[in-house]
Order: sequence, then structure tokens, then C-alpha cells
Amino acid sequence: MIILAPFSNRINAKRKQETDLFLNSIKNKYNIIRKQTELPGEYELFLNEYWQKDNMIIIEHDISADESNIKELIECKYNICAFNYYIYPCASSLAIPVLAHRKVLCGGKIDWINDNDDFADLCGFGLIKVNKNIQKQINLTRITQKAVKRQYINYTKYLTNQSAGITADSEISVEFMKINERIHIHKKILKHNHKEN
Ligand SMILES: [Zn+2]
Repeated sequence: MIILAPFSNRINAKRKQETDLFLNSIKNKYNIIRKQTELPGEYELFLNEYWQKDNMIIIEHDISADESNIKELIECKYNICAFNYYIYPCASSLAIPVLAHRKVLCGGKIDWINDNDDFADLCGFGLIKVNKNIQKQINLTRITQKAVKRQYINYTKYLTNQSAGITADSEISVEFMKINERIHIHKKILKHNHKEN
């Protein structure tokens, strides 16, 4: 198992503090690779560098977790697992906070999951596990090339952390759907040190 911890200076240091402290506290027990991913596509290139090599956990720079969350993911029998966390109106432009994962309803409509849902179809990558057998079925190089292009086209939005269209987590989630793998949801809601206002 490798733990990938991409981070960016596009958010302020305070929002990353808890994640940093957590990663420091477990760095001698796990294979953690931290990488600054600042330029368009660097996040995807980072994932792609380790894709298909080992079971993988990804933790994003503003998620507050503890070791029990990591153990829970490692011990879970499912191939793709994600923890719950909220995304808030200040960043999402939605009316209310929502859990960061979505499900496809009968008829194809997509909706946010609620706290009773055990599985999702599209997920945020705040804290996620993707086993190697799943990675083997997904061509991340192709997705990475597209993402690099897209993010350079929307460079201003990218730099200000606004959505520049499809994000890597959405795009990789679609690949999970194509191979009929749903995302197992771990229901504890992790603290997300989200955009301030
Ligand atoms: Zn699970």
C-alpha cells in the first residue's frame, strides 16, 4: 500500500496544517509520498506515476484524518473505498453543504449521496483507496493527457482553484463506472478544511 499526498500552495498553509501533522505522525509506519502539485496536470501526473504499481490511498491536502481511518481503508474488503466529507456552498455554489460523493439514480439522474448510502458512483478524492486490480483496468495516462490540456486552457480558473470543468476525481470515477465498480462509502464524516468564505 502506498499513500499519495498531493498538496498545493494555491490554498493557504492553515488549511493544510492538520493534514500535514497527521501525515508526519504516521510517516514512519506507512509508505507516504508527498508531492507539491502546482501546475496544471501535475496532480494527475503524480497519480499516474504510481498507478498500477500497488494498492493506493490518496489523501488530499485539506482533509483531517487519523490512523484509524487509514487502517479501516486497508482492512476493508472492497476495491474502491472513500470516506465522507462535506463540500460547502462557498466553493460548490450549491445552496447547502453536501457529502462529496454522488450516485446515479434510476433513469440516469445524478444526485448527491446522503448519510445512509453505502455506495456511490462518482466520488471526491478527499480520502480514497483504489486497489491495484482496479487501477490495472484504467488507462490513467490518457486521462492525464486530457487533463493537462484542459487545465492549461482554463489556466486562470485553475490557478484560482475554481472548477476548470471536469476534475480528475470525476473523470476517474467515470472509469470506475465503466468497469461496474461502485465506491464503498465509509460513513464517518471527516473534517474538511474547506475554503473560508
Ligand atoms: Zn470500504
